[in-house]
Amino acid sequence: ATFGNLSDRLAETFKNLRTKGKLSAADVDGTVREIRRALLDADVALEVVKDFTGKVRERALGDEVSKALNPAQQVVQIVNDELITILGGQQRRLEFAKKPPTIIMLAGLQGAGKTTLAGKLAKWLAKDGHTPLLVAADLQRPNAVTQLEVVARQAGVAVYAPEPGNGVGDPVKVARDGVKYALQKVHDVVIVDTAGRLGVDAELMKQAANIRKAIDPDEVLFVIDAMIGQDAVATAKAFQDGVDFTGVVLTKLDGDARGGAALSVASLTGRPIMFASTGEGLDDFEPFHPDRMAGRILDLGDILTLIEQAQGAFDEDEARKVAEKFATDTFTLDDFLGQMQQLRNMGSIKKMMSMLPGAGAMKAQLENFDEREIVRTEAIIQSMTKLERTTPKLLNGSRRLRIAKGSGSSVTEVNQLVQRFEQAAKMMKTVAKGGMPNIPGMGPI
Ligand code: GDP
Repeated sequence: ATFGNLSDRLAETFKNLRTKGKLSAADVDGTVREIRRALLDADVALEVVKDFTGKVRERALGDEVSKALNPAQQVVQIVNDELITILGGQQRRLEFAKKPPTIIMLAGLQGAGKTTLAGKLAKWLAKDGHTPLLVAADLQRPNAVTQLEVVARQAGVAVYAPEPGNGVGDPVKVARDGVKYALQKVHDVVIVDTAGRLGVDAELMKQAANIRKAIDPDEVLFVIDAMIGQDAVATAKAFQDGVDFTGVVLTKLDGDARGGAALSVASLTGRPIMFASTGEGLDDFEPFHPDRMAGRILDLGDILTLIEQAQGAFDEDEARKVAEKFATDTFTLDDFLGQMQQLRNMGSIKKMMSMLPGAGAMKAQLENFDEREIVRTEAIIQSMTKLERTTPKLLNGSRRLRIAKGSGSSVTEVNQLVQRFEQAAKMMKTVAKGGMPNIPGMGPI
């Protein structure tokens, strides 16, 4: 997915940090260098990277980290904060005109996804009780007008398209007439689709600027394809100089783009990303939340909620002891059972696990998790002797048969449990050595 590689690289960087207690200046520099490389490799613009890493470095060397209980975690927090900042900080909503109609103009290169976006935005607004009108002012691309009509029909909204869109006709007049039409027919929002070219050109810019002048829109949304790569910077700047815009829409976030160029746009232009487009369907669209996107990139999951739940369910001392057992290889089947029972206190395991940092990578395991297994596991472990629980190596064939009988399960089930225990102990040992960020109250799970 978009940002997938960036996510992995950053996770790797933080993993290396996790094993350290106090951070030296050299640790910080090393981390910042890795972050810089990851961002550059993801196509984030150089000036944005410099600014970003400069801020992270300064903060990471400061008091907030040296005084933190868990310096590594604090660094992740700082990267998260700064990522939110380059993504525009607060979520920015559409501004509606005091006196309707609210006029929204779309601008961007051909193929960026403007026409599709017009439909998505219209459908989303209609769901919210608005009565949007789509205006076909892209007379350049042969199929643009027909495409907008199709999209309008799918979205169940009205469209104003007086010209066929064969390269003739006056897009400025169409836009102006479209707004008048909206006023007559009492549409409270007008979305004006404009023409794009494959590359930035002067004539296109002038046309878009003229449309803007003619209709005086409340919002001008610059639509940019996340797949565009390093050209994003030049394109965004050209549109800012030529037409200027009030917000950015990132499209094709469902693709495999490195995505970093798109990440640079808000920071370079000072204009917020307002929406994200994540597929070809009209519902593949969402308001953009800088904090959620940063969380997604860092694969932090919903850490805050998790911490709250974990603090309610876990005994900190207990968690620390277990963590130590993982690390020193003295984790027993009793501990395994205890962990499972504790997890059950937290409600749905799947839900809890999906909030864990790194959940992205653990999806497959999550899918296979069955809560009823806890009950089966309990029965099996409780049929073991104390010695067997602490020394699972003793579990030979006859012992397994006895345990299976005692717990009303099959030998295969007993075998599976022992195998799962061994896998878990192994996995937890890796994790305890620095697999994921530390979560207060949970020990290094
Ligand atoms: P325009 O030239 O800017 O109007 O771009 P279009 O709206 O015609 O979109 C160009 C192509 O990109 C079309 O095939 C769309 O279906 C596709 N497209 C638009 N948005 C997205 C998106 O978010 N994800 C994906 N995968 N495809 C998209």
